[in-house]
Formats: sequence, structure tokens, C-alpha cells
Amino acid sequence: MANPHPPVCRLCRREGVKLFLKGEKCQGDTCTFTKRNATPPGQHGLSRRRRVSDYGIQLRAKQRGRRIYGVLETQFHNYFDAAAQRKGVTGTVLLQMLEQRLDNVVYRAGFAASRREARQLVSHRHFQVNGRTVNIPSFQVRAGEVVTVRERSRELEPIRRSLEQRGGQGVPGWLTLYPEEQRVDVIREPERAEMETSVDEQLIVEYYSR
Ligand code: SF4
Repeated sequence: MANPHPPVCRLCRREGVKLFLKGEKCQGDTCTFTKRNATPPGQHGLSRRRRVSDYGIQLRAKQRGRRIYGVLETQFHNYFDAAAQRKGVTGTVLLQMLEQRLDNVVYRAGFAASRREARQLVSHRHFQVNGRTVNIPSFQVRAGEVVTVRERSRELEPIRRSLEQRGGQGVPGWLTLYPEEQRVDVIREPERAEMETSVDEQLIVEYYSR
């Protein structure tokens, strides 16, 4: 019999956070993360307790951050290197760079139900930045720039559905959403409190600074 819960759900349970890797199914009662009360994957789940080293804790934090934003290892390391060279607190700058990815802006604005869906929509050329079509999910959207749904994509089901479901709720203060125009303005850089709370950026910095 086919496995009703493919391995992506294990990633959510491993990281202890819903990563929304299965689109719409993640919203319903079938979400294994909700059903199994977020126990770690594997036959023994929580019963397999063991002492975790500092390195293990840092590695887990890095993996969690990477998976939440859907970034591959090399690219994530590149973000860290770039953040370390910029002015400011490295961990905060790292998170700002991840938040300002085009796929994340699309997700945060409510044009997509998950970052994974947002990445797919961007890749399929449904969005413009300052009037130019951009199909690169990692594209950095700067303060003052405007992201819009392309004219021909305005009626696209996933975008309309997501905007309806979210109803403009949960859009962080560094973005201004105009749902009627299917447009979001990036008015400033995100502050720490407005970014992903389940990521421990200090542990990620420690991991890469070893
Ligand atoms: Fe699976 Fe739930 Fe994670 Fe979606 S959010 S991938 S349904 S565990």
C-alpha cells in the first residue's frame, strides 16, 4: 500500500515546526505534524532520548533555518558568508537576507499558502518586481521596491485562494499589501521581531563559526 505520509512530513517532525511542504494538505486535519503531536520521526519518537552535544544543537538550528526557508546547504552557507561581511549583527543580517528573498516576500504577503508554493509561482513567472518579470526565487527585494502579480496571472487559483484565506492577516509591518491590486510594497528592512521566530540565528552563527 502506498505510504500516505511521504518523507517530507518527517522533515517537519524532525525540525519541530510545520514547514508546509505539501501545499493545501498542510492546512487540513491530515497534517501528520498536528496528528502526532510533533514527536520526532522514527519508531521510538520521543522515547529515544539522548544527550545532544553543542555541535548537535547548532547543526539542528542550522538545518531548521535552512528547511524553513527552503534553501540548499551551499546557498545557505553563501548567505552566511555574505551576512558576515555586511555591517550589523551577522545573525540578524542573515535572517533579513532570507526574509527579503522574492519567494518569501510572496509568501509573507499572502500570495501563496507556503514558501514552497511561492517558490513555484515565482519560477513560473507569475510575479514582477518594479514592473519587470522575475523568475528567480532567491532574488533580493530591497526596501522601496514593489512586487506585483503579473496581469495575466491575476485570476490564478492558488494566488486568489491564498489571498482569500489569509484575508490580509499576518502581513508583517515591513510590507504593505494592496490586495485589490495584487501588489505588495517593501517599505523597509524587516526587524527581528517581524522575522521567523522559530529560527535561532545565534546558534546558526555559532555553527558556521566553528
Ligand atoms: Fe506534512 Fe504537515 Fe509538514 Fe505539511 S505541514 S509537510 S502535512 S507535516
